[in-house]
Amino acid sequence: MATRVTFIGAGNMASAIIGGMIESGHSPSSITATSPSDAFLAPVHERYGIHTNTDNVAAVAQADVVVLAVKPQIMKEVCEGLASVVQQRRPLLISVAAGLDAETLEAWLGGDLAIVRCMPNTPALVGAGASGLYANAKVSDEQRTLATELMEAVGLVAWVEEEPLLDAVTAVSGSGPAYFFLMFEAMEEAGVRLGLPAETARRLAMQTALGAAKMAMASDKPPEELRRNVMSPGGTTERAVSRLEQGGLRQLMAEAMEECAERAREMA
Ligand code: NAP
Repeated sequence: MATRVTFIGAGNMASAIIGGMIESGHSPSSITATSPSDAFLAPVHERYGIHTNTDNVAAVAQADVVVLAVKPQIMKEVCEGLASVVQQRRPLLISVAAGLDAETLEAWLGGDLAIVRCMPNTPALVGAGASGLYANAKVSDEQRTLATELMEAVGLVAWVEEEPLLDAVTAVSGSGPAYFFLMFEAMEEAGVRLGLPAETARRLAMQTALGAAKMAMASDKPPEELRRNVMSPGGTTERAVSRLEQGGLRQLMAEAMEECAERAREMA
């Protein structure tokens, strides 16, 4: 029988994962999503053909995997409401909530449970996410595979073996899309100063980022080698890259990501 997956919360992140699962061949009939209001669930049901339920406990009573996809502020109340059914059913629990550690979630759910914490990022909404995953000691190999399959439906998955490393994942990929958006803004502004229409500069910058990412992912060469390959001595790229290096781009990136990880630790 197909693995039955219940999503608690049917918002942006849950919808993205559900969409990805269905696209990658998961049967809609084995997926359930919950939310307090029917009005909110109707579009999800119509779009994906999955089961919906306004009753979290009833939806978890049938589940092999439960994805906790509500906002962190209401997670305690939601978990406490699920504790008794979860203790009976003992599904794999996957939390996508930022800043709540596995031990806290486990305590709210009554203790001694298999919990995977996932740090996704917003490109999951377009099927190009990058998620960091951490499993507590009670998660079996089979359950790890399940969690990998689930999150691979919306992009790349990387496991970390120590929970604090999820703060580093937050600094790289969780918050990472914003670094690139900032880079697009800066490249567009600079392109405009050089005389291009804003729209042209923006589209060229975005396509260039996409192309660079695709090329780097398809290559077995490290980014440094790919960069050197496009920097002919005395040429245009070398001049630009030298200016970025002189300006301290690497150091700035290191400091920004350290601040990001520190903020993630503070919020935990
Ligand atoms: P969202 O769009 O606001 O979705 C939250 C969902 O939870 C809504 O459908 C909401 O329904 C529902 N909900 C509220 N109370 C509930 C309850 N008691 N039982 C069941 N469902 C309930 O939020 P989101 O952006 O998907 O974020 C969900 C989680 O993903 C958060 O913990 C966030 O930290 C994490 N996350 C999101 C992103 C992202 O890119 N969006 C990235 C990283 C992590 P109503 O609207 O009817 O209240």
